[in-house]
Amino acid sequence: MKNLFGLTVEEIADELTKLNLPKFRAKQISEWIYKRNANSFDEMTNLSKEIREQLKKLFKIESAAFIKKLESDDGLTMKFLLRLDDNSAVETVLMRHDYGNSICISTQVGCAMGCKFCASTIKGLERNLTAAEILSEVLFVNSTLENRRIDNIVVMGIGEPLMNYDNLIKFLKMIHSDYTIGLSYRKITVSTCGIVPKIYQLAEENLPITLSISLHAPTNNLRTQLMPVNKNFPIDEVVEAGKNYGEKTGRRVTYEYILIANVNDTAEHANQLSKLLKNQLANVNLIPINPVVERNFKKPSIERVKNFCEYLNNHGIAATIRKEMGANINAACGQLRLQNLR
Ligand code: SAH
Repeated sequence: MKNLFGLTVEEIADELTKLNLPKFRAKQISEWIYKRNANSFDEMTNLSKEIREQLKKLFKIESAAFIKKLESDDGLTMKFLLRLDDNSAVETVLMRHDYGNSICISTQVGCAMGCKFCASTIKGLERNLTAAEILSEVLFVNSTLENRRIDNIVVMGIGEPLMNYDNLIKFLKMIHSDYTIGLSYRKITVSTCGIVPKIYQLAEENLPITLSISLHAPTNNLRTQLMPVNKNFPIDEVVEAGKNYGEKTGRRVTYEYILIANVNDTAEHANQLSKLLKNQLANVNLIPINPVVERNFKKPSIERVKNFCEYLNNHGIAATIRKEMGANINAACGQLRLQNLR
């Protein structure tokens, strides 16, 4: 049976045309699936019984299944583990900020990028998520919210989104469409470790989403040690691609910079970073590292983090420190899925 979940309204219309059913039914059906989380045709009360019976024989509506939910002590962060068709698992995090509900989604099962500080890459890449699977992360979390309201999506969960480019774009277009949650592109952030040609390609898509680039080091030498991807796409090319993205889209690029004690957090590093990013439409988001059991990196003291931030701001680079959420439920960075594997 063909799964309708994950098809665009146009793709559903194509299926209906094959059955000689009118196109406007596709809109009704897609709204049932994506706005009201229907998983059976019986719920679709604006379709005749006859049509429902006909569709039931040919199609199913199946999205990722819920496995487990963890909630932080303060109740502000919730982590969901979802099971996919092939029994692999993917994690999605909901963060309730005072400015709204933010959701952090995954795009791959595991990751091939090999960043030395990251839990998601420890067992390598299993596979890409389909657009339908990415969509089901958002719609599942949405269905748990009493007001059904997601205000922001950050594509910062497990995986490298630009290595799953086509599915990412299909997902972005769907989540922006009226027949799903119709989220503004401006409320979506995609984070990448710096896949340069894909950053250029993304700049041409005409989707005004925010791009976040994981930099984490101001020099090639250090960045290559922390992020093997830097061998293929060195720092100057990454920053150049970021600059182009800012110019083409008019959107300010965010550079993420994890702070790791005694590795990349000295005044010298802050100085190098400020020089690298001078004269760019950019800001820096500083993230004190979430230590991962398998990795031997430590979080710097809060004074050190503040000093680093202050240095950047005093040297013409807009920098902020990211507020940490959900550490006590392993919400940070692929750690729940890893725990499940362990
Ligand atoms: N692959 C993409 C998106 C997923 S990672 C990327 O690299 O941007 C999302 C962010 O979390 C990245 O900036 C990543 O470097 C960061 N991250 C990974 N492990 C972390 C850790 N242990 N502590 C803090 N941030 C981490």
